[in-house]
Amino acid sequence: MSLAQLTCLGTCDGLPDGERGHSAYLYRLSGTVLLVDSGEPVARQLRARNIHPDEIDAVWLTHLHMDHIGGLFMLIQGFWLDGRKKPLPIHLPEEGVLVIQAMLRASYLFDQLLPFKISFIPHSAGQPVQIGLTKITPLLNSHLDQLRQSFGGQPGQRFESFSFRIETGTHTIAHTGDVGSLQDLDPLLDRDLDLLTCELSHLAPAALFEKISRANVRRAVFVHIGRALRKNLDELRHQAGAALNSVPHDFAADGDEYHLTP
Ligand SMILES: [Zn+2]
Repeated sequence: MSLAQLTCLGTCDGLPDGERGHSAYLYRLSGTVLLVDSGEPVARQLRARNIHPDEIDAVWLTHLHMDHIGGLFMLIQGFWLDGRKKPLPIHLPEEGVLVIQAMLRASYLFDQLLPFKISFIPHSAGQPVQIGLTKITPLLNSHLDQLRQSFGGQPGQRFESFSFRIETGTHTIAHTGDVGSLQDLDPLLDRDLDLLTCELSHLAPAALFEKISRANVRRAVFVHIGRALRKNLDELRHQAGAALNSVPHDFAADGDEYHLTP
């Protein structure tokens, strides 16, 4: 029996893609179901897999780039029309709370209209959140640091981007989100991982594979794979195979599922 399962709903990077959706990952973990990021067309992807709105316990957003939140509003409209009843906690960078609430009102998705209550819970870096048997810890990364340097100073805009450590009691999973440098992986790789879900758009593949090979990772799934990289996927596979040798790994496509057993 699988105690933890990842379904990749959207695996492309920030560029529009004819075959792949933007970032959205469904984790089924010891009775808790998390949707990590909600890139479009996440509502369609869930519907296509007959996943009822009430199955999802919480949404966790890594950062506010559109390829990670662009499907959120349609997701909520879909939950409304498909009859979600369960409260919906959305865990997110604090700077997103007011703007997302405003956009929901602007698109007529009023609190009083929805048959479920949405709560917005800002990430607190390093502070774990318990949902059922699962503990999720948001960890700040440097993905938005350069943007902060160029465009910072707007009130309320903090340029925060997070990776998540997810502990189920039986498994430890790291989800990188988008990162800024290889060093962002350090706090994730400092313990044994049953699964590393790792983005591939902002890291040099050779250095990444080498770093993973030195860590204690039982399985790696590479996501957020851009056009240029996918053109050379065979070469990348070869490179990963040589560097990672005994670590099972895969370059995920939309719909791919991974099951972790004890
Ligand atoms: Zn992204």
